[in-house]
Amino acid sequence: MGETQNIDGKAVAKALREDLAAEVAGLDVRPGLAVILVGDDPASQVYVRNKIKACAACGIKSFESRLPAQATEAEIMAEIEAFNDNKDVHGILLQLPLPYPLNADTLIQHIKPEKDVDGLTFINQGKLIAGDKSGLVPCTPQGAMMLIKSVEQDLSGKHAVVIGRSLLFGKPMAQLLLAENCTVTSAHSRTRDLPEVCKQADILVAAVGRAEMVQGAWIKPGAIVIDVGINRQEGGTLCGDVDYDQARGVAGAITPVPGGVGPMTIACLLKNTVEAAKKAKN
Ligand code: NAP
Repeated sequence: MGETQNIDGKAVAKALREDLAAEVAGLDVRPGLAVILVGDDPASQVYVRNKIKACAACGIKSFESRLPAQATEAEIMAEIEAFNDNKDVHGILLQLPLPYPLNADTLIQHIKPEKDVDGLTFINQGKLIAGDKSGLVPCTPQGAMMLIKSVEQDLSGKHAVVIGRSLLFGKPMAQLLLAENCTVTSAHSRTRDLPEVCKQADILVAAVGRAEMVQGAWIKPGAIVIDVGINRQEGGTLCGDVDYDQARGVAGAITPVPGGVGPMTIACLLKNTVEAAKKAKN
């Protein structure tokens, strides 16, 4: 068996960010991204800081709205409406998760679909299912697809198994693979004999949130393995949903954690913001 290729998400994301920076420099509109952060979850604060830094490096203007954990849905809605009406803002991102008992699902639907750079409004999810390319595609699945394409251009007829069926990742990922003419299996917590299902995958995408659940024996030799999971182990190190050491030597190509899908998410957020800005101008 050949060697397992490491899919370097950091490098692919860097190239994408550089392309975007060059594109932004040539635009006669400055793309703007608004981030709404509610509460003081430390992980969310780090994510928001990283997003704002990435925007600056690429020439995107960022707008930030910070609300206390006690904020009401009406107050968050007012922030969304203000950004909806602000012509300098082309993308709006509501940082998730929201503090209890706020309902993210209802709030997200108030973001104008053309500014919904997370691709989570019903309009954008519906466009993805309908194959209408005018919508904004959720960032993490979009980035995962770019990584798959970085090692294999023609996905037609391949069997893709996506473990996880969340609205944020699993469902849109399955749709993107279907649009590439893959035969797609959506696996989840009720799937019977998951190892056997995974073993049939030419492309295996794991998005569960369980440290190193996918073992080497579950992987078809030569398969492309995309590990979306981000799990913090005892001692603080990060690991994915796939046992990376076991998978190496079986898979044809695999994304590491960290340094695989993670960096693609922010890069695709910037890409969606630039796309939204270009469309707003037309
Ligand atoms: P989620 O909403 O919690 O969904 C998890 C999915 O996994 C559900 O569909 C669930 O099935 C399924 N599942 C749970 N236990 C399972 C089991 N034992 N066997 C098979 N399926 C099982 O999570 P998510 O938001 O999609 O995120 C998944 C992971 O990706 C997390 O680790 C998250 O941190 C990571 N993530 C990373 C990025 C990034 O930028 N790299 C972005 C988003 C998410 P049911 O539907 O039946 O409950």
